[in-house]
Amino acid sequence: MGKNNIIIGIDLGTTNSLAAYINNGKPEIIINERGNRITPSVVNFKKDDSVLIGELAKNQQIVNSEATITNIKTNMGQDIQFPIGERSYTPVELSALILRKIKIYSEKYLGIPIKNAVITVPAYFNDNQRQATLKAGILAGFNVLKLLNEPIAAALAYGVGRKLDEHILIFDLGGGTLDITLMDYKKNLFRVLATGGSTSIGGINFDKALSDFVLHEFQKQYSINLKEDPIAYQQILIHAEKAKIDLSSVEETRIFIPYITATEKGPIHLDVTITRNKFESIINEYLKSTEKLIEETFNQFKLNSSWMNSIIFAGGSTRIPSVERTVVSTIKRLNGKGKINVYHDINPDEVVAEGAAILAGILSGELEEIEFYDITSHDLGIEDNNGSFITIIPKGTSYPCENVKLFTTAEDNQEEVIIHVLQSGVNGNEREYVSLGKFRLSNIAHAKAGEPNIDVRFSIDRHEIMNVSAVNLDTGTIKKVSISGKDWLLTGDFRERRGRGLKII
Ligand code: AMP
Repeated sequence: MGKNNIIIGIDLGTTNSLAAYINNGKPEIIINERGNRITPSVVNFKKDDSVLIGELAKNQQIVNSEATITNIKTNMGQDIQFPIGERSYTPVELSALILRKIKIYSEKYLGIPIKNAVITVPAYFNDNQRQATLKAGILAGFNVLKLLNEPIAAALAYGVGRKLDEHILIFDLGGGTLDITLMDYKKNLFRVLATGGSTSIGGINFDKALSDFVLHEFQKQYSINLKEDPIAYQQILIHAEKAKIDLSSVEETRIFIPYITATEKGPIHLDVTITRNKFESIINEYLKSTEKLIEETFNQFKLNSSWMNSIIFAGGSTRIPSVERTVVSTIKRLNGKGKINVYHDINPDEVVAEGAAILAGILSGELEEIEFYDITSHDLGIEDNNGSFITIIPKGTSYPCENVKLFTTAEDNQEEVIIHVLQSGVNGNEREYVSLGKFRLSNIAHAKAGEPNIDVRFSIDRHEIMNVSAVNLDTGTIKKVSISGKDWLLTGDFRERRGRGLKII
Protein backbone atom coordinates (compact mmCIF):
# COMPACT_ATOMS: atom_id res chain seq x y z
CA MET A 1 0.00 0.00 0.00
CA GLY A 2 1.38 3.40 -0.95
CA LYS A 3 1.92 6.27 1.37
CA ASN A 4 -1.18 7.98 0.02
CA ASN A 5 -3.45 5.37 1.53
CA ILE A 6 -2.22 5.49 5.08
CA ILE A 7 -4.81 4.52 7.68
CA ILE A 8 -4.15 5.93 11.13
CA GLY A 9 -4.96 4.38 14.50
CA ILE A 10 -6.32 6.75 17.14
CA ASP A 11 -6.48 6.29 20.90
CA LEU A 12 -9.20 8.78 21.89
CA GLY A 13 -8.49 8.84 25.61
CA THR A 14 -10.19 10.31 28.68
CA THR A 15 -7.10 12.30 29.59
CA ASN A 16 -4.93 12.22 26.48
CA SER A 17 -5.32 11.25 22.86
CA LEU A 18 -2.75 10.15 20.32
CA ALA A 19 -2.42 8.64 16.89
CA ALA A 20 -0.03 6.22 15.21
CA TYR A 21 0.55 4.69 11.79
CA ILE A 22 2.64 1.90 10.32
CA ASN A 23 6.00 3.04 9.01
CA ASN A 24 8.26 0.36 7.52
CA GLY A 25 6.22 -2.38 9.15
CA LYS A 26 6.32 -0.87 12.67
CA PRO A 27 3.93 1.40 14.55
CA GLU A 28 5.11 4.99 14.86
CA ILE A 29 3.47 7.66 16.99
CA ILE A 30 2.43 10.77 15.06
CA ILE A 31 3.93 13.93 16.58
CA ASN A 32 1.57 16.87 17.08
CA GLU A 33 2.28 20.44 15.95
CA ARG A 34 3.86 21.25 19.33
CA GLY A 35 6.30 18.37 18.96
CA ASN A 36 4.50 16.14 21.49
CA ARG A 37 3.48 12.50 21.19
CA ILE A 38 0.29 12.91 23.22
CA THR A 39 -2.39 15.59 23.07
CA PRO A 40 -4.48 16.29 26.18
CA SER A 41 -8.17 15.54 25.52
CA VAL A 42 -9.12 19.05 26.61
CA VAL A 43 -11.17 21.68 24.77
CA ASN A 44 -11.27 25.38 25.68
CA PHE A 45 -13.54 27.99 24.14
CA LYS A 46 -12.18 31.50 23.95
CA LYS A 47 -14.28 34.66 24.23
CA ASP A 48 -13.88 35.38 20.50
CA ASP A 49 -15.46 31.96 19.71
CA SER A 50 -12.16 30.37 18.72
CA VAL A 51 -11.36 26.96 20.16
CA LEU A 52 -8.19 25.68 21.78
CA ILE A 53 -7.55 21.94 21.88
CA GLY A 54 -4.82 19.96 23.61
CA GLU A 55 -1.94 21.53 25.56
CA LEU A 56 -3.13 25.10 25.02
CA ALA A 57 -6.59 24.22 26.29
CA LYS A 58 -5.13 22.38 29.30
CA ASN A 59 -3.18 25.52 30.19
CA GLN A 60 -6.51 27.35 30.52
CA GLN A 61 -7.85 24.90 33.11
CA ILE A 62 -7.13 27.15 36.08
CA VAL A 63 -7.62 30.63 34.68
CA ASN A 64 -10.64 29.83 32.55
CA SER A 65 -12.08 26.65 34.02
CA GLU A 66 -15.75 27.36 33.10
CA ALA A 67 -14.88 27.37 29.41
CA THR A 68 -12.51 24.38 29.60
CA ILE A 69 -13.88 20.88 29.18
CA THR A 70 -11.99 17.78 30.31
CA ASN A 71 -12.82 14.07 30.65
CA ILE A 72 -15.24 14.25 27.72
CA LYS A 73 -14.98 10.51 27.15
CA THR A 74 -16.66 9.77 30.48
CA ASN A 75 -19.78 11.51 29.14
CA MET A 76 -19.88 9.86 25.72
CA GLY A 77 -23.24 8.39 24.81
CA GLN A 78 -25.07 10.46 27.41
CA ASP A 79 -27.73 12.99 26.62
CA ILE A 80 -25.95 15.98 28.15
CA GLN A 81 -24.79 19.35 26.93
CA PHE A 82 -21.90 21.53 28.06
CA PRO A 83 -23.08 25.16 28.03
CA ILE A 84 -20.41 27.59 26.86
CA GLY A 85 -21.52 31.21 26.39
CA GLU A 86 -24.45 31.38 23.99
CA ARG A 87 -24.07 27.80 22.80
CA SER A 88 -23.84 24.36 24.23
CA TYR A 89 -21.89 21.35 23.02
CA THR A 90 -22.54 17.62 23.16
CA PRO A 91 -19.83 15.11 24.10
CA VAL A 92 -19.92 13.97 20.44
CA GLU A 93 -19.18 17.49 19.17
CA LEU A 94 -16.39 17.96 21.70
CA SER A 95 -14.79 14.61 20.87
CA ALA A 96 -15.10 15.49 17.19
CA LEU A 97 -13.07 18.66 17.85
CA ILE A 98 -10.30 16.55 19.39
CA LEU A 99 -10.41 14.04 16.54
CA ARG A 100 -10.39 16.87 13.99
CA LYS A 101 -7.29 18.27 15.65
CA ILE A 102 -5.64 14.84 15.40
CA LYS A 103 -6.63 14.65 11.73
CA ILE A 104 -5.10 18.04 11.00
CA TYR A 105 -1.80 17.43 12.76
CA SER A 106 -1.51 13.91 11.31
CA GLU A 107 -2.03 15.29 7.80
CA LYS A 108 0.64 17.88 8.43
CA TYR A 109 3.06 15.31 9.86
CA LEU A 110 2.51 12.77 7.10
CA GLY A 111 2.13 15.34 4.33
CA ILE A 112 -0.97 13.70 2.83
CA PRO A 113 -4.73 13.90 3.40
CA ILE A 114 -5.95 11.27 5.88
CA LYS A 115 -9.43 9.87 5.55
CA ASN A 116 -9.44 6.40 7.06
CA ALA A 117 -9.00 5.67 10.74
CA VAL A 118 -9.31 2.98 13.38
CA ILE A 119 -10.51 4.47 16.69
CA THR A 120 -10.19 2.66 19.99
CA VAL A 121 -12.89 2.42 22.64
CA PRO A 122 -12.98 0.77 26.07
CA ALA A 123 -14.24 -2.81 25.88
CA TYR A 124 -17.02 -1.98 28.36
CA PHE A 125 -18.40 0.84 26.15
CA ASN A 126 -22.08 0.23 25.54
CA ASP A 127 -23.92 0.72 22.29
CA ASN A 128 -24.71 4.40 22.96
CA GLN A 129 -21.07 5.13 23.75
CA ARG A 130 -19.86 3.32 20.62
CA GLN A 131 -22.40 5.14 18.45
CA ALA A 132 -21.30 8.44 19.95
CA THR A 133 -17.63 7.67 19.19
CA LEU A 134 -18.47 6.65 15.65
CA LYS A 135 -20.45 9.86 15.13
CA ALA A 136 -17.61 11.95 16.53
CA GLY A 137 -15.24 10.26 14.07
CA ILE A 138 -17.54 10.97 11.14
CA LEU A 139 -18.10 14.57 12.27
CA ALA A 140 -14.34 15.04 12.37
CA GLY A 141 -14.15 13.96 8.72
CA PHE A 142 -12.94 10.38 9.17
CA ASN A 143 -14.12 7.21 7.56
CA VAL A 144 -14.01 5.00 10.66
CA LEU A 145 -13.04 1.51 9.49
CA LYS A 146 -13.29 -0.06 12.91
CA LEU A 147 -13.96 0.80 16.54
CA LEU A 148 -11.33 -1.38 18.18
CA ASN A 149 -11.56 -2.41 21.82
CA GLU A 150 -8.62 -0.96 23.72
CA PRO A 151 -7.45 -4.22 25.36
CA ILE A 152 -7.34 -5.91 21.95
CA ALA A 153 -5.29 -2.99 20.69
CA ALA A 154 -2.84 -3.50 23.58
CA ALA A 155 -2.65 -7.23 22.81
CA LEU A 156 -2.03 -6.52 19.11
CA ALA A 157 0.78 -4.13 20.02
CA TYR A 158 2.51 -6.83 22.06
CA GLY A 159 1.52 -9.88 20.07
CA VAL A 160 1.95 -9.04 16.40
CA GLY A 161 5.48 -9.66 15.27
CA ARG A 162 6.47 -11.55 18.44
CA LYS A 163 4.77 -14.86 17.67
CA LEU A 164 3.51 -15.24 21.22
CA ASP A 165 1.67 -18.34 22.32
CA GLU A 166 0.19 -17.19 25.57
CA HIS A 167 -2.76 -16.80 27.86
CA ILE A 168 -2.91 -13.17 28.70
CA LEU A 169 -4.54 -10.85 31.18
CA ILE A 170 -4.70 -7.31 29.83
CA PHE A 171 -4.99 -4.83 32.63
CA ASP A 172 -5.79 -1.38 31.31
CA LEU A 173 -6.13 1.37 33.90
CA GLY A 174 -6.27 4.85 32.46
CA GLY A 175 -7.64 8.18 33.61
CA GLY A 176 -11.28 7.25 33.96
CA THR A 177 -11.72 3.51 33.75
CA LEU A 178 -10.46 0.02 34.33
CA ASP A 179 -10.70 -2.64 31.63
CA ILE A 180 -9.78 -6.25 32.40
CA THR A 181 -9.56 -8.76 29.56
CA LEU A 182 -8.57 -12.41 29.47
CA MET A 183 -7.51 -13.68 26.09
CA ASP A 184 -5.48 -16.32 24.43
CA TYR A 185 -3.10 -15.68 21.64
CA LYS A 186 -1.64 -18.28 19.35
CA LYS A 187 0.36 -17.30 16.31
CA ASN A 188 -1.99 -14.99 14.44
CA LEU A 189 -5.17 -15.89 16.26
CA PHE A 190 -6.47 -13.80 19.16
CA ARG A 191 -9.46 -14.86 21.17
CA VAL A 192 -11.08 -12.83 23.94
CA LEU A 193 -12.38 -15.15 26.65
CA ALA A 194 -13.73 -12.86 29.34
CA THR A 195 -14.04 -9.17 30.09
CA GLY A 196 -14.63 -7.10 33.20
CA GLY A 197 -13.81 -3.77 34.77
CA SER A 198 -15.31 -0.62 36.13
CA THR A 199 -16.12 2.88 34.99
CA SER A 200 -15.41 4.29 38.40
CA ILE A 201 -11.78 3.36 38.92
CA GLY A 202 -9.08 5.42 37.24
CA GLY A 203 -6.41 8.04 37.66
CA ILE A 204 -9.00 10.80 38.11
CA ASN A 205 -10.39 9.00 41.16
CA PHE A 206 -6.87 8.80 42.58
CA ASP A 207 -6.34 12.53 41.95
CA LYS A 208 -9.60 13.35 43.73
CA ALA A 209 -8.83 11.07 46.67
CA LEU A 210 -5.38 12.64 47.03
CA SER A 211 -6.90 16.15 46.72
CA ASP A 212 -9.36 15.31 49.50
CA PHE A 213 -6.44 14.32 51.72
CA VAL A 214 -4.63 17.57 50.91
CA LEU A 215 -7.80 19.61 51.57
CA HIS A 216 -8.21 17.82 54.87
CA GLU A 217 -4.61 18.52 55.93
CA PHE A 218 -5.01 22.18 55.01
CA GLN A 219 -8.28 22.42 56.91
CA LYS A 220 -6.67 20.82 59.97
CA GLN A 221 -3.96 23.49 59.87
CA TYR A 222 -5.96 26.62 58.98
CA SER A 223 -9.66 25.67 59.49
CA ILE A 224 -10.38 26.74 55.92
CA ASN A 225 -12.26 24.48 53.49
CA LEU A 226 -10.67 25.12 50.10
CA LYS A 227 -13.17 22.87 48.34
CA GLU A 228 -15.55 25.82 48.40
CA ASP A 229 -13.08 27.86 46.37
CA PRO A 230 -13.24 26.50 42.78
CA ILE A 231 -9.97 28.08 41.64
CA ALA A 232 -8.07 26.77 44.66
CA TYR A 233 -9.65 23.32 44.22
CA GLN A 234 -8.67 23.21 40.52
CA GLN A 235 -5.09 24.03 41.47
CA ILE A 236 -5.06 21.32 44.13
CA LEU A 237 -6.40 18.76 41.64
CA ILE A 238 -3.71 19.63 39.12
CA HIS A 239 -0.96 19.49 41.76
CA ALA A 240 -2.38 16.24 43.16
CA GLU A 241 -2.07 14.61 39.73
CA LYS A 242 1.55 15.78 39.48
CA ALA A 243 2.29 14.52 43.00
CA LYS A 244 0.68 11.17 42.18
CA ILE A 245 2.86 10.83 39.08
CA ASP A 246 5.99 11.76 41.11
CA LEU A 247 5.14 9.10 43.69
CA SER A 248 5.39 6.43 40.99
CA SER A 249 9.14 7.05 40.96
CA VAL A 250 10.00 8.69 44.31
CA GLU A 251 9.09 7.78 47.90
CA GLU A 252 8.03 11.25 48.98
CA THR A 253 6.82 14.45 47.37
CA ARG A 254 5.55 17.85 48.41
CA ILE A 255 2.64 19.91 47.15
CA PHE A 256 3.44 23.58 47.55
CA ILE A 257 1.00 26.17 46.21
CA PRO A 258 1.91 29.73 47.22
CA TYR A 259 -0.83 32.27 47.94
CA ILE A 260 -3.62 29.70 47.64
CA THR A 261 -5.84 31.86 49.84
CA ALA A 262 -5.68 34.76 52.29
CA THR A 263 -7.13 35.87 55.60
CA GLU A 264 -7.06 39.28 57.27
CA LYS A 265 -3.65 38.22 58.61
CA GLY A 266 -2.27 37.91 55.11
CA PRO A 267 -1.69 35.30 52.37
CA ILE A 268 -1.57 31.56 53.10
CA HIS A 269 0.49 29.00 51.21
CA LEU A 270 -0.48 25.36 50.90
CA ASP A 271 2.36 23.04 51.84
CA VAL A 272 1.67 19.31 52.26
CA THR A 273 4.14 16.44 52.10
CA ILE A 274 2.91 13.04 50.91
CA THR A 275 4.78 9.76 51.13
CA ARG A 276 4.23 6.86 48.76
CA ASN A 277 2.93 4.82 51.70
CA LYS A 278 0.34 7.46 52.49
CA PHE A 279 -0.75 7.63 48.84
CA GLU A 280 -1.09 3.84 48.76
CA SER A 281 -3.34 3.93 51.82
CA ILE A 282 -5.42 6.71 50.21
CA ILE A 283 -6.10 4.61 47.11
CA ASN A 284 -6.33 1.32 48.98
CA GLU A 285 -10.11 0.95 48.57
CA TYR A 286 -9.63 1.19 44.78
CA LEU A 287 -6.87 -1.44 44.89
CA LYS A 288 -9.17 -3.76 46.84
CA SER A 289 -11.95 -3.28 44.26
CA THR A 290 -9.42 -3.98 41.52
CA GLU A 291 -8.55 -7.30 43.11
CA LYS A 292 -12.22 -8.24 43.28
CA LEU A 293 -12.83 -7.27 39.66
CA ILE A 294 -9.89 -9.40 38.46
CA GLU A 295 -11.28 -12.30 40.43
CA GLU A 296 -14.77 -11.82 38.96
CA THR A 297 -13.34 -11.75 35.43
CA PHE A 298 -11.37 -14.94 36.14
CA ASN A 299 -14.48 -16.63 37.46
CA GLN A 300 -16.37 -15.99 34.22
CA PHE A 301 -14.12 -18.47 32.54
CA LYS A 302 -13.28 -21.88 33.96
CA LEU A 303 -9.52 -21.74 34.16
CA ASN A 304 -7.16 -24.57 34.94
CA SER A 305 -4.66 -23.65 37.58
CA SER A 306 -1.53 -22.06 36.11
CA TRP A 307 -3.49 -21.24 32.97
CA MET A 308 -2.49 -17.58 32.88
CA ASN A 309 1.08 -16.93 31.86
CA SER A 310 1.26 -13.26 30.91
CA ILE A 311 0.10 -9.85 32.01
CA ILE A 312 0.03 -6.86 29.71
CA PHE A 313 -0.20 -3.45 31.33
CA ALA A 314 -1.79 -0.55 29.50
CA GLY A 315 -2.91 2.90 30.62
CA GLY A 316 -0.95 5.57 32.49
CA SER A 317 -2.19 4.52 35.93
CA THR A 318 -0.45 1.13 35.69
CA ARG A 319 2.80 3.01 36.34
CA ILE A 320 1.75 3.24 39.99
CA PRO A 321 3.90 0.58 41.72
CA SER A 322 1.12 -0.59 44.07
CA VAL A 323 -1.24 -1.08 41.12
CA GLU A 324 1.24 -3.38 39.43
CA ARG A 325 1.93 -5.20 42.71
CA THR A 326 -1.78 -5.72 43.34
CA VAL A 327 -2.39 -7.14 39.86
CA VAL A 328 0.60 -9.48 39.89
CA SER A 329 -0.13 -10.79 43.40
CA THR A 330 -3.83 -11.30 42.60
CA ILE A 331 -2.96 -13.29 39.48
CA LYS A 332 -0.42 -15.35 41.41
CA ARG A 333 -3.02 -16.11 44.05
CA LEU A 334 -5.67 -17.08 41.48
CA ASN A 335 -3.33 -18.86 39.18
CA GLY A 336 -1.34 -21.17 41.41
CA LYS A 337 2.41 -21.31 41.07
CA GLY A 338 2.79 -20.84 37.32
CA LYS A 339 5.42 -18.41 36.04
CA ILE A 340 4.02 -15.05 34.99
CA ASN A 341 5.56 -12.89 32.24
CA VAL A 342 4.86 -9.23 32.86
CA TYR A 343 4.99 -7.09 29.74
CA HIS A 344 5.46 -3.40 30.06
CA ASP A 345 8.22 -2.57 27.67
CA ILE A 346 5.80 -0.64 25.45
CA ASN A 347 4.97 2.75 26.94
CA PRO A 348 1.55 2.23 28.59
CA ASP A 349 0.38 5.60 27.24
CA GLU A 350 1.16 4.54 23.70
CA VAL A 351 0.39 0.84 23.58
CA VAL A 352 -3.28 1.30 22.59
CA ALA A 353 -2.49 3.74 19.76
CA GLU A 354 0.24 1.36 18.53
CA GLY A 355 -2.26 -1.50 18.49
CA ALA A 356 -4.77 0.64 16.61
CA ALA A 357 -2.05 1.42 14.05
CA ILE A 358 -1.32 -2.31 13.71
CA LEU A 359 -4.96 -3.03 12.89
CA ALA A 360 -4.89 -0.05 10.50
CA GLY A 361 -1.79 -1.61 8.87
CA ILE A 362 -3.57 -4.97 8.56
CA LEU A 363 -6.61 -3.31 7.00
CA SER A 364 -4.44 -1.40 4.53
CA GLY A 365 -2.65 -4.61 3.56
CA GLU A 366 0.70 -3.41 4.86
CA LEU A 367 0.85 -6.04 7.62
CA GLU A 368 0.07 -9.74 7.56
CA GLU A 369 -3.57 -10.72 8.28
CA ILE A 370 -4.48 -11.89 11.71
CA GLU A 371 -7.69 -13.32 13.01
CA PHE A 372 -9.30 -12.11 16.15
CA TYR A 373 -12.43 -13.02 17.96
CA ASP A 374 -13.79 -10.47 20.32
CA ILE A 375 -16.75 -10.97 22.59
CA THR A 376 -19.65 -8.80 23.71
CA SER A 377 -19.15 -7.12 27.04
CA HIS A 378 -22.83 -6.88 28.08
CA ASP A 379 -25.99 -8.94 28.03
CA LEU A 380 -28.28 -7.55 25.33
CA GLY A 381 -31.99 -8.11 25.28
CA ILE A 382 -35.46 -6.68 25.63
CA GLU A 383 -37.95 -6.03 28.39
CA ASP A 384 -41.01 -8.29 28.51
CA ASN A 385 -44.52 -7.39 29.65
CA ASN A 386 -43.59 -8.07 33.28
CA GLY A 387 -40.66 -5.71 33.11
CA SER A 388 -38.18 -8.62 33.18
CA PHE A 389 -35.05 -8.59 31.07
CA ILE A 390 -34.98 -11.27 28.38
CA THR A 391 -31.48 -11.90 27.08
CA ILE A 392 -31.14 -12.18 23.32
CA ILE A 393 -27.35 -11.98 22.99
CA PRO A 394 -25.58 -12.99 26.20
CA LYS A 395 -22.40 -11.33 27.42
CA GLY A 396 -19.36 -13.16 26.10
CA THR A 397 -20.72 -13.92 22.59
CA SER A 398 -18.21 -13.65 19.73
CA TYR A 399 -19.21 -11.06 17.15
CA PRO A 400 -20.18 -10.25 14.40
CA CYS A 401 -23.21 -12.33 15.35
CA GLU A 402 -26.97 -12.61 15.11
CA ASN A 403 -29.50 -14.11 17.54
CA VAL A 404 -33.27 -14.43 17.35
CA LYS A 405 -35.98 -15.05 19.94
CA LEU A 406 -39.67 -15.59 19.43
CA PHE A 407 -42.22 -13.48 21.30
CA THR A 408 -45.97 -13.03 21.30
CA THR A 409 -48.62 -10.64 22.58
CA ALA A 410 -49.59 -10.42 26.25
CA GLU A 411 -53.24 -9.42 25.74
CA ASP A 412 -56.13 -10.31 23.45
CA ASN A 413 -56.44 -8.17 20.32
CA GLN A 414 -53.19 -6.37 21.00
CA GLU A 415 -52.50 -4.22 17.94
CA GLU A 416 -48.93 -3.28 18.59
CA VAL A 417 -45.94 -4.18 20.71
CA ILE A 418 -43.21 -1.95 22.01
CA ILE A 419 -39.72 -3.37 21.83
CA HIS A 420 -37.56 -1.92 24.57
CA VAL A 421 -33.91 -2.70 23.90
CA LEU A 422 -31.72 -2.98 26.98
CA GLN A 423 -28.10 -3.65 27.77
CA SER A 424 -26.81 -4.89 31.10
CA GLY A 425 -24.57 -2.61 33.16
CA VAL A 426 -20.80 -2.68 33.13
CA ASN A 427 -20.42 -5.36 35.72
CA GLY A 428 -23.40 -7.40 34.61
CA ASN A 429 -25.39 -5.96 37.49
CA GLU A 430 -29.07 -6.55 36.74
CA ARG A 431 -30.13 -3.33 38.37
CA GLU A 432 -27.89 -1.37 36.10
CA TYR A 433 -29.69 -1.90 32.79
CA VAL A 434 -29.12 0.81 30.23
CA SER A 435 -31.99 1.60 27.91
CA LEU A 436 -30.78 1.66 24.34
CA GLY A 437 -34.18 2.65 22.99
CA LYS A 438 -37.71 1.55 22.26
CA PHE A 439 -39.59 1.04 19.04
CA ARG A 440 -43.05 0.02 17.99
CA LEU A 441 -44.21 -2.86 15.80
CA SER A 442 -47.78 -2.01 14.73
CA ASN A 443 -50.62 -3.51 12.67
CA ILE A 444 -50.79 -6.83 14.49
CA ALA A 445 -53.96 -8.60 13.31
CA HIS A 446 -56.55 -9.15 16.05
CA ALA A 447 -55.91 -12.44 17.77
CA LYS A 448 -55.94 -14.04 21.19
CA ALA A 449 -53.05 -13.29 23.53
CA GLY A 450 -50.17 -15.66 22.78
CA GLU A 451 -51.22 -16.38 19.18
CA PRO A 452 -49.22 -13.86 17.10
CA ASN A 453 -45.62 -14.82 16.39
CA ILE A 454 -43.14 -11.99 16.69
CA ASP A 455 -39.54 -12.65 15.92
CA VAL A 456 -37.01 -10.27 17.52
CA ARG A 457 -33.57 -10.38 15.96
CA PHE A 458 -30.39 -8.73 17.27
CA SER A 459 -27.26 -8.51 15.18
CA ILE A 460 -23.90 -7.04 16.11
CA ASP A 461 -21.53 -5.67 13.51
CA ARG A 462 -17.74 -5.36 13.50
CA HIS A 463 -17.86 -2.16 15.60
CA GLU A 464 -19.92 -4.04 18.23
CA ILE A 465 -22.83 -1.84 17.20
CA MET A 466 -26.24 -3.38 17.24
CA ASN A 467 -29.09 -3.62 14.76
CA VAL A 468 -32.46 -4.79 15.95
CA SER A 469 -35.42 -6.00 13.95
CA ALA A 470 -38.85 -7.25 14.85
CA VAL A 471 -40.93 -9.25 12.39
CA ASN A 472 -44.56 -10.14 12.70
CA LEU A 473 -44.29 -13.63 11.20
CA ASP A 474 -48.05 -13.78 10.58
CA THR A 475 -48.25 -10.70 8.37
CA GLY A 476 -44.63 -10.23 7.40
CA THR A 477 -44.57 -6.68 8.86
CA ILE A 478 -40.95 -5.83 9.58
CA LYS A 479 -39.57 -3.08 11.72
CA LYS A 480 -35.83 -2.75 11.50
CA VAL A 481 -33.79 -0.24 13.42
CA SER A 482 -30.19 0.58 13.83
CA ILE A 483 -29.61 1.96 17.28
CA SER A 484 -27.78 4.84 15.58
CA GLY A 485 -30.96 6.35 14.11
CA LYS A 486 -32.44 7.82 17.25
CA ASP A 487 -35.47 9.01 15.26
CA TRP A 488 -37.29 5.79 16.04
CA LEU A 489 -36.96 6.28 19.76
CA LEU A 490 -40.06 6.45 21.90
CA THR A 491 -39.90 8.11 25.24
CA GLY A 492 -41.67 7.33 28.49
CA ASP A 493 -42.28 4.06 30.23
CA PHE A 494 -44.37 1.89 27.97
CA ARG A 495 -45.40 -0.36 30.81
CA GLU A 496 -47.59 2.47 32.06
CA ARG A 497 -49.61 2.19 28.86
CA ARG A 498 -51.52 -1.06 28.72
CA GLY A 499 -51.54 -3.58 25.97
CA ARG A 500 -48.17 -3.11 24.39
CA GLY A 501 -46.03 -5.63 26.22
CA LEU A 502 -44.32 -8.64 24.71
CA LYS A 503 -44.35 -12.13 26.09
CA ILE A 504 -41.67 -14.69 25.46
CA ILE A 505 -42.85 -17.90 23.82
P1 AMP B 1 -4.43 7.20 29.97
O1 AMP B 1 -5.93 7.35 30.01
O2 AMP B 1 -3.94 5.85 29.67
O3 AMP B 1 -3.76 8.30 29.17
O4 AMP B 1 -3.95 7.44 31.49
C1 AMP B 1 -3.98 8.69 32.05
C2 AMP B 1 -3.90 8.56 33.55
O5 AMP B 1 -2.65 7.99 33.91
C3 AMP B 1 -3.98 9.92 34.21
O6 AMP B 1 -4.85 9.83 35.32
C4 AMP B 1 -2.55 10.15 34.66
O7 AMP B 1 -2.49 10.96 35.82
C5 AMP B 1 -2.07 8.75 34.95
N1 AMP B 1 -0.63 8.61 34.90
C6 AMP B 1 0.19 8.89 33.86
N2 AMP B 1 1.48 8.66 34.21
C7 AMP B 1 1.46 8.22 35.50
C8 AMP B 1 2.47 7.84 36.43
N3 AMP B 1 3.77 7.86 36.11
N4 AMP B 1 2.08 7.46 37.67
C9 AMP B 1 0.77 7.46 38.01
N5 AMP B 1 -0.23 7.81 37.18
C10 AMP B 1 0.12 8.19 35.94
